[in-house]
Amino acid sequence: MPYSMVSHLLCPKCNETYDSDTIQQLCVCGSPLLVEYDLDEVKEHLTKEMITGREQSLWRYHELLPVKKEENKVSFEEGMTPFLPLPSLGQKMKLSNLYIKDEGMVPTGSFKARGAAVGISKAKELGVQNLAMPTNGNAGAAWSLYAAKAGLEAHIVMPVDAPEITRKEVSISSAHLYLVNGLISDAGKIVGDLVKEQGFYDASTLKEPYRIEGKKTMGYEIAEQLNWELPDVILYPTGGGVGLIGIYKAFLELKKLGWIKDQKLPRLVAVQSEGCAPIVKAFEEGKTESEFWENSTTHAFGINVPKAIGDFLVLDAIYQTDGCAVAVSEEDIRISQREVAALEGQFICPEGASTFAAAERLRERNWIKEDEQVICLNTGLGIKYPDAFEVNVKTMETNERINV
Ligand SMILES: *Cc1c(COP(=O)(O)O)cnc(C)c1O
Ligand SMILES: [Zn+2]
Repeated sequence: MPYSMVSHLLCPKCNETYDSDTIQQLCVCGSPLLVEYDLDEVKEHLTKEMITGREQSLWRYHELLPVKKEENKVSFEEGMTPFLPLPSLGQKMKLSNLYIKDEGMVPTGSFKARGAAVGISKAKELGVQNLAMPTNGNAGAAWSLYAAKAGLEAHIVMPVDAPEITRKEVSISSAHLYLVNGLISDAGKIVGDLVKEQGFYDASTLKEPYRIEGKKTMGYEIAEQLNWELPDVILYPTGGGVGLIGIYKAFLELKKLGWIKDQKLPRLVAVQSEGCAPIVKAFEEGKTESEFWENSTTHAFGINVPKAIGDFLVLDAIYQTDGCAVAVSEEDIRISQREVAALEGQFICPEGASTFAAAERLRERNWIKEDEQVICLNTGLGIKYPDAFEVNVKTMETNERINV
């Protein structure tokens, strides 16, 4: 039985097809390409019961991933992250079925490791030696470390004010680090030049087709962890939107395989910060594409993306699932981050915290009903962002200190 049952690449905009055994970037029409599988073959050879006993990583779904030879797999056993109920916070928010899927618990401390694992493995399989990418930090960190493991050279361009820890992760892996005084969109232009001048593989978000395949495994895991029944609502902190597009893609694949009973897919919610909300604006205006968000700013750095190349796919996933897009304030992100830690003991990242702030707004508006099953995706570790909030301290006089 083949390790992967990938068949080809397909353009969701113009339906052009491409071969997945040679390097491909965007479609000639400018759209990202999506990976297609021979789902009839998968159906014939694989059952969901077979998956249950497999390794506790995203590679348990290898038939539905694009890497053809297992020897090309570059992995730190990423995936199968904790899926936990949050009863105390749920009670406060009047949600009786609130859950977190905790992506802080993956190598490199952010869910970017999923995209990096599959993206780097496939790049290795395709014979790539040098790759370049713009990043808000976490993706660059993950891709650098996976590239180091694979023996590839990574050229990473990030804004100067991206979280310092991510800069260090890139640097320690010996990747080439370029800092740009601007936004991820400015970093993207520099990568464009590197790709054109040096012939590097362009690993920018959705400009290679495989990162999304790593991220879609969050959708498979949610289904599997819920015993192949889907929740009512999933909230996702949306920058480039790759995770949201991926989760939607995963559910469509599972439906075609007949592995999920539900006819109705979960309502997908794209959460953004009020300081950078192009998807929310497009959604509110009923548009199918977003416009560039001028002067974007948010301390939830991973979702500071003023214009996403896959915006039309994000909006389509929202519309198709009767979902929505919500912007939350910087202050509400901070409050939610503190609440999750104080009530549930989990130190999540600001991006993840934005989904809780949004769930609370949507509950208040009764868009989410009290007994609906709601999943907030925490995309990274809070400890990667030590400057995200102020510390409350009680100061003591020296003579009150305990001797040690
Ligand atoms: C990149 C990132 C996001 C946004 O992910 P997209 O798939 O680009 O929308 C959210 N949270 C964190 C921590 C990130 O690093
Ligand atoms: Zn096309």
